[in-house]
Amino acid sequence: MRLIFIGPPGVGKGTQAKNICAHFGIIHLSTGVILRNEIKQMSSIGQSAKTFIDAGQLVPDDVLLKIMYERLTQENCYNGFCLDGFPRTMPQAEGLDHILKNLNQSLDAVVSVEVDEEELINRLVLRGITSRRTDDTHDIIRQRLQVYKKQTEPLIEFYEERDLVKTINGVGEITEITERILNTLI
Ligand code: ADP
Repeated sequence: MRLIFIGPPGVGKGTQAKNICAHFGIIHLSTGVILRNEIKQMSSIGQSAKTFIDAGQLVPDDVLLKIMYERLTQENCYNGFCLDGFPRTMPQAEGLDHILKNLNQSLDAVVSVEVDEEELINRLVLRGITSRRTDDTHDIIRQRLQVYKKQTEPLIEFYEERDLVKTINGVGEITEITERILNTLI
């Protein structure tokens, strides 16, 4: 099973991606987690990514494509994966197509999780209190939502043209939402 999770910040796609990966026994690749680890390790990727992340901007496409190329060509991804936070721009989506074509692989579905904007902001402000994520502050959250609308949301249409998109209502209990996703995938 090869999946992409798309949705605005705060929609719960990381939590759901984790559950779905556990169900199918596939690898969960979260670019947010990968980048935050690079920052923790103070690698050169991490140091340049931090400026973008803290400003609520996207990290440049070439950096993400390099990271994802390295992960997706590893053996543990051969049986399937779930991409959480990637692709986030059209060039990333095109780059992903290219990587998968070279690996002779194709996507099974794109899970688009939806929640209304007011609820998203509430969730993110709450998360900021406990997560200590430097990008979960009110102004940066608004900025990230704008970036999502402008740069990432158009990808839904791109994948709709290939009939891959499963739209999921992201409001409800976590396990209930996982069931909704599983039901669209089987
Ligand atoms: P969220 O979905 O809550 O915004 P993530 O943990 O997925 O959070 O990402 C946090 C930040 O990491 C993003 O705001 C962005 O700066 C950076 N990032 C993650 N994935 C990508 C990507 N595919 N392209 C560019 N930047 C990314």
